[in-house]
Amino acid sequence: MSAGYPPGQTVEIARRRLTERFRAHGIDSAELDARILVGAELGLDLTGMIAAAARPLAAAEAERLEAAARRRLAGEPVARILGAKEFWGLPLQLSAATLVPRPDTETVVELALEMLRVIPRANRRLRMADIGTGSGAILLALLSELPEADGVGTDISVAALSTARANAGRLGLGDRATFVACDYATGLQGAFDLIASNPPYIRSAEIADLATEVRDHDPHRALDGGPDGLAAYRSLIPQAAGLLASDGALIVEVGHGQSSQVEQLMTAAGLMHDRPPKADLAGIPRAVAGRKLPT
Ligand code: GLN
Repeated sequence: MSAGYPPGQTVEIARRRLTERFRAHGIDSAELDARILVGAELGLDLTGMIAAAARPLAAAEAERLEAAARRRLAGEPVARILGAKEFWGLPLQLSAATLVPRPDTETVVELALEMLRVIPRANRRLRMADIGTGSGAILLALLSELPEADGVGTDISVAALSTARANAGRLGLGDRATFVACDYATGLQGAFDLIASNPPYIRSAEIADLATEVRDHDPHRALDGGPDGLAAYRSLIPQAAGLLASDGALIVEVGHGQSSQVEQLMTAAGLMHDRPPKADLAGIPRAVAGRKLPT
């Protein structure tokens, strides 16, 4: 209990002390992580936390906070401790079968929306697919932006699909989203105006060197891209190309340094590039697009 939170400590002191412990442990996001955990364990939003700054913690609150702090110090990311993460402004629930959605993946959503704006369509509903949907992040972000669209999410994990389905329902998007258990796009029938995917793309040999937050807590099936990291693209790009409508777009997330190889795989599958890859906030090309030529 010495490192913990004796009852009587105020909310503000608990938050600062937690920040210091995280920082001393080498956690980059120490301040943010401490703020989110204190807020979540005490049921306070940012304004509530400021208002409650001088209030002493109850013993039960101090215990809950300490339990969460120990999980974070043991390498578990905040999103796993809370079982939730915000993506594209949407609160998503997570499960052991789903990747924690990353801010980088919002680049895929941005590029998809840019490309959809220029796809000619005569007042008909859009059809979209998200291959390997996990928590449903990409699909649900797109559906939230496009009221005239319907979408299907696939995943090889039935557990992930049930998390995605629950997220769709909670966000009021359930009647426009369907979910299919299959390997990549093998269970789908076209034609789609847009297909998006954040497939596994880490080289198998590099998994062991990932940060503990990723290596020990994200599902390896969602990370491992085979010996050269490109195995998933080799399967899913030709499948997706065959499912696109005329003028339809395929947008995939890629790892650092993979964009030109993934563009080549798209070219080999008959897609054209009318748009360069889109960089994430760190300036790394993160989303690659291909378009099916009008027939
Ligand atoms: N962006 C994840 C990471 O590097 C990997 C996700 C993936 O392989 N699609 O931690």
